[in-house]
This record gives sequence, C-alpha cells and structure tokens, in this order.
Amino acid sequence: MSFGYVTLKTRLLQFFIAKTSILVPAMADKRACAELRCFMNRDAAIGLLARRDLTRLSTEQRASLLLDWWFSDPDAPGYAGLPDPLKSMLAHSVEPDDPTRTLYDPLLQLALEYNYMGVVNTYLSMQLALPDRDVTVEGDVDEMVVCPCCRYLSLQTSANDEICRVCFWEDDGTTELSSRSGPNHQTLRQAQENFQRIGAVTEASRRYVLPDGKQRYGLAIP
Ligand SMILES: [Zn+2]
Repeated sequence: MSFGYVTLKTRLLQFFIAKTSILVPAMADKRACAELRCFMNRDAAIGLLARRDLTRLSTEQRASLLLDWWFSDPDAPGYAGLPDPLKSMLAHSVEPDDPTRTLYDPLLQLALEYNYMGVVNTYLSMQLALPDRDVTVEGDVDEMVVCPCCRYLSLQTSANDEICRVCFWEDDGTTELSSRSGPNHQTLRQAQENFQRIGAVTEASRRYVLPDGKQRYGLAIP
C-alpha cells in the first residue's frame, strides 16, 4: 500500500501526538500542540524523520546502508536498544542477507537518525510542517565544526579527512587559501570559487552534494 507524502507526514504526526512520552515537557501547559502550531523536541523530530526516510529507501539503498552500519561494538550508541536476534547477527559478524527483512529496520533507523546530526532545528521543523499546522522543533543542536571551504557547520571533526556534504571539500587540514590541497586537487581558494559558482568544489562532485545542504546546516559567522 502506498500513500502520498503529505498523508505519510500526517500519519507520522498522529503517531507522534499519540506518543505523549516523547512530547516536550511543555505539553503539560498545553503549549506542545495547540491550534495551528506544535512543539516537538529534537530527538523526537529526528526519530520521526528517520522513520519517514526508512520508508523511502530502495532495496539497493538498504543494502548499502546496512553494510556501512554493520558493526558489533556493544558500546556503540544505540546498540543496546537493538533487538536481540539482530544483536546476535551483528556479534557473529554475519553479513546481512536479504536487505528487505524488517529485522534490519532498527539498525537502518539508527543510521538514518545519524544523518541528522548537526542539522538545524529550522530544517527539521520545515520537514515536519503540515499544510494546516506548523511544527517548531526545539533542543540543542549537536556541536559541529565549520567547513573551511563553504563555511557551513557541516563537519563533526576538524582536519580529519571528513568530506563536507554541502560542498564536497575533504577537510585535510588545509586552511591557507593559496595552499594546494592534495586530496582536493586544488587550492582552498579555487574550491571556494567553485562552490560559489556551481555549488560544489568541482563539476564532478556536484552530484554528491546534498541538494538541500545549505538549509540543513548553519552558516558560520565570519
Ligand atoms: Zn563545505
């Protein structure tokens, strides 16, 4: 059965409203979901969006994400909450077989929630808004590091070869504008000019940047 995006969002919000335990404490003063505006805490919002994203994954995307997230570290965040049969598979390093199995959904949910690390609350609010109801997401945004190229707060670490999802610069520690960056095959200044001109550090990398990357992350104050 398939249903439209708006209907799906309505269902997700209905699910959310039913789960009063995940409402912000302000629910007690009837502020959480009054008239045309709902308030939602950040963790709940990310959980809902990840569940929405899970329904949109193709079989190929599920397989790829499962391989990326096939870990067996009991201390990893979220591991304890996984179902025992799945934990058992992970512990024995058995690779995922049929990626469509719902048994894998909790692990995919973890992976999809991780995608929202550092994403600003205004973006989450926008994603959860309904035609007849605004949603305001509240809560501290994860601390992020500014990308030396695009200046968005899109990186989790600094100078750690992390690739920016907004501009596709690989953060190898280059900070001088005129210095040539080996992994990026150009200077930082050239990459910045390219980002301004075409929205990515190179023509070839345009296909890899997030189309809504500028809305997802905050822009560092110069
Ligand atoms: Zn960037």
